Amino acid sequence: ISRKWKVEPTRIDLGEGVVIGEGQFSIMAGPCSIESEKQIELVVEHLKANDVKIMRGGVFKPRSSPYAFRGLGLEGLQMFYRICRENGIKIITEVMQVSQIEDMVDYVDVFQVGARNSQNFNLLDSLGEAQKPVLLKRGISGTLEELLQAAEYIFSNGNEKIMLCERGIRSYEGAYRNVLDLNAVPVLKEKTHLPVIVDPSHGIGLRNYVEQMSLAAVMAGADGVIYETHQKPEEAFSDGQQTVNFQESERLIKRMRKAYELR
Ligand code: PEP
Ligand code: MN
Repeated sequence: ISRKWKVEPTRIDLGEGVVIGEGQFSIMAGPCSIESEKQIELVVEHLKANDVKIMRGGVFKPRSSPYAFRGLGLEGLQMFYRICRENGIKIITEVMQVSQIEDMVDYVDVFQVGARNSQNFNLLDSLGEAQKPVLLKRGISGTLEELLQAAEYIFSNGNEKIMLCERGIRSYEGAYRNVLDLNAVPVLKEKTHLPVIVDPSHGIGLRNYVEQMSLAAVMAGADGVIYETHQKPEEAFSDGQQTVNFQESERLIKRMRKAYELR
C-alpha cells in the first residue's frame, strides 16, 4: 500500500457514481448504532436532503461494558439494507469477527473495522479475501506504522479497496475522549496511495466540537469524514454525547463542502 509501489491514488468505486478517494470529498454520516426502522428512515431522509450518499450505523457494537446496548445484529442490518437500497444510499457498518463476514457481505457496501479490532489479523486476512471495500480504523493506541501494516494484511490477500481512518488516539488528557491526530492525515497521504478518512466524532468525543475538527480535517487533506448524527442525540442508544443533530449536521455538511472548495 506504499506510494513507493504505486503513486497513483487509489479510488474506491461503490457503484452508482459513489467514489471514495482523491478528487472528491466523501461524507459518511449516521448514528453510532442502528436502533429502529423509524430511526433509519429519518436519517436516510436527512442524508438525501443533503445529497450525502453513504450512511454509517453499527449493528454489532464493540461496547466497553457487556451490559450496554450491543446492537440489533443481522436483522438490524437487513432492515438497514432494505431502506438504504430503496433510497440509493450506500452502507458502512462494523464487522467484529470473521464468522460475521459471510452473513453480512451481501448487505454492506463498506465493512468497517473498529479501533479495537485494528490488529485482529485473522479478521483482516478474511476481509482481504472477501473483496468488499474496507474502512480500517487506527487502533486506540495504534501507531501509523501499525495501521499501515494492518492495511497490508487486507491488501496482501488481494483486496485493494481499503481506506484508512484516523479516529483519535488515547492520551493522558481527560478534557475530551481521544486526541484526534490530524498530523496523521498528511503523513499517511504521503506514505500510502489509499484514501484517508477522519472520524471527528470518536476523535474528540464531544458534539460541540465536531464541526471545528471536521473542518480542520478537510484542510489537513482528508479524502472524507465519517461522523455520528441522530434525530435526537440525547436519546441515542450509544455515543449520544458526541453525536450531532440534523440541524447541526446540515450546517456541517455545507461548511465542509465550502472548505473543500477552498482547499
Ligand atoms: C463506531 O464507529 O461507532 C466505533 C465504535 O468506532 P471506534 O472503533 O473508532 O471506537
Ligand atoms: Mn460510536
